[in-house]
Amino acid sequence: MIKGSVGTVTTQYYNHQSPLVLESGETLPSLTIAYEKYGSLNRDASNAILLCHALSGDAHVAGHHEGEKRTGWWDAVVGPGKAFDTERYFVICSNIIGGCKGSTGPSSENPATGKPYGPAFPVITIRDMINAQKLLIDHLGISRLYAVAGGSMGGMQVLQWTVSYPDFVKKAVVIATSAYSTPQQIAFNEVGRQAIVSDPEWNGGKYYDRTSSGPVRGLSLARMVGHITYLSNESMHEKFGRALQGKEQISFDFSTDFAVESYLHHQGDTFTKRFDANSYLYITKAIDYFDLIKDGSLTEGLKPATAAFLVISVSSDWLYPPYQSQEIVSALTANDREVHYCEIRSNYGHDAFLLESGQMNYLVGKFLSHTVVGDVMIRDVPTIEEGSTTAVTARRLINLEVNHLPVLSANGQLAGIVTSWDIAKAVAKNFLWLDEIMSKNVITTTPDEPIESVAKKMEEHSISALPVIDENQHVIGLITSDAISMLIGRVTS
Ligand code: SAM
Repeated sequence: MIKGSVGTVTTQYYNHQSPLVLESGETLPSLTIAYEKYGSLNRDASNAILLCHALSGDAHVAGHHEGEKRTGWWDAVVGPGKAFDTERYFVICSNIIGGCKGSTGPSSENPATGKPYGPAFPVITIRDMINAQKLLIDHLGISRLYAVAGGSMGGMQVLQWTVSYPDFVKKAVVIATSAYSTPQQIAFNEVGRQAIVSDPEWNGGKYYDRTSSGPVRGLSLARMVGHITYLSNESMHEKFGRALQGKEQISFDFSTDFAVESYLHHQGDTFTKRFDANSYLYITKAIDYFDLIKDGSLTEGLKPATAAFLVISVSSDWLYPPYQSQEIVSALTANDREVHYCEIRSNYGHDAFLLESGQMNYLVGKFLSHTVVGDVMIRDVPTIEEGSTTAVTARRLINLEVNHLPVLSANGQLAGIVTSWDIAKAVAKNFLWLDEIMSKNVITTTPDEPIESVAKKMEEHSISALPVIDENQHVIGLITSDAISMLIGRVTS
C-alpha cells in the first residue's frame, strides 16, 4: 500500500460553554479545545482514534497547514497506509488544556477579567486534560473510541483514559511512558520550572501585557535541560561527538566551544518562539502529579481498565526507562487484561517514539488491525429449543431469514446446530423432529479467538458459521464467513 500524507489540514476549535470542574476542586468556567481530525467517521462511529500529545506537542499531528512545509508531529505514522491509517480510521488529536496551542491555558483570556489568566489559571492534572478531551469526543458524536494512543505525557493520558472511561476505550497504545512520575522525573521538571520562575521577566507569571518578550531565558534553559533528557548518551555521541562549533581549537573562555552546546542553545531559542512559559509550568506540574498507584499497588490502580493494550518502551530511554513500561504490563497482566509488550531497540532515547517510524508503524499498525471474533460477531443470535419439530425449525429459519440456528437445551446450553441444509434432509427423509437432523458435535469459537484462526477453522470444516460461546457453554454470538469477508468493508465504510 502506498503510504501517503493527509495533505493540507486546518486546526478547528470547539468552544464548550459550560464549566469544567477540575481535580483540584477549582472550575474552568468555559473552555476552548483546539483539534484536528483526519479520515472519516464510519456509519456506526466505531473507527475513531484519539491521539494524545506530549509536553510540547499540539493538535497538529499530520499533514501540513496551508502555506507551510513543516508536517505535524507524528506525520510519520498518521496518514493513508500508515499505522494510524486515515483510510480506515477517523483520527483526532486535540491540544491539551493548560497548553498554548489553541486550547484554554494560562495565556488565554480569563472571562472574569478580560485579561490573560496568567498565574490565576487553575492547576490542572492529566485527568483534567482527558476530561476536557472527553467533552470534545462527545461533541463529535463518538460513544466509544476504537483506540487511544500516545507517547510520553501522551501515554499518561492514554492510561488515564482507560481508567477513567474504561467502557469508552477499546484499544490503548501506550509508548515510552510511566503510570506515575518518579522523583528523578519530578526533579528534572523542577529544574525547568525554577529556570523559568527565577527569570525576572517571568514577573510572577504576569508578563503577557508587558513590553518585554517574557521569560525567554528561563524557558530556553528549561527546554535545554528537558531536551537532554529526550536524547541518549549514544545518540549524542553519534550526533556531536566532541566536535567544536565554528572553531578549530577550544577557546579557554566561556563562549560556545562544542557543537552540542550550540545545538542546545538553538533548541532552547526556537522553543521560546513557539511555547508559553506559564504553560510549561502548568504542564510539568500535571506530569509530576500523575500517579495511578492506588493503595500502594499499580495493579489496583489499573484495575478499572478493560482495553486491550499495546505497551512500547525504548531500550535507550533513560527518562522513562523500559522498567516503567514493564510495571504497567505486569499490573495489566495481574488484572488478566490483554496486553502486548515490545521494547524497541533504538539509540534515539526517549525521542525514539517520534523518530523510529518503521518500528512504530509495524507494531502499532499490527496491533490496531488485529481483530478477534468478539469484534465482528452477531450478538442477538436467534436460537431454537431442543425438542422442537422440523416444521417449527423450518418456519423460524424462513421467518428470521437466517441459515443457522444454534439449538439450546432446557438449561440454555448449546446442544447442537441446525441449518437450512438439514431442513432439506428432513424433507428428503421425512424426519419430523429436530433431534433427527441437527448436528450435535458443534464447532464453536470464543470472543477472544483471532479472526484468522477462526477463518481457518471454518475453511477446514467447510462450514460457514460458528456459535460463539462463553465458559458456561451459553451462546453469546454467531460468527459467519460473510461477516469475515465483510470485515475490511465494515471498517472502512
Ligand atoms: N455451507 C454449509 C453451512 O455451514 O451451512 C456447510 C455445509 S455442511 C454439509 C452442513 C452441515 O454442517 C449441516 O448438517 C449443519 O448442521 C452442519 N454445521 C453447520 N455449522 C456447524 C457447526 N458450527 N458445527 C458443526 N456442524 C455444523
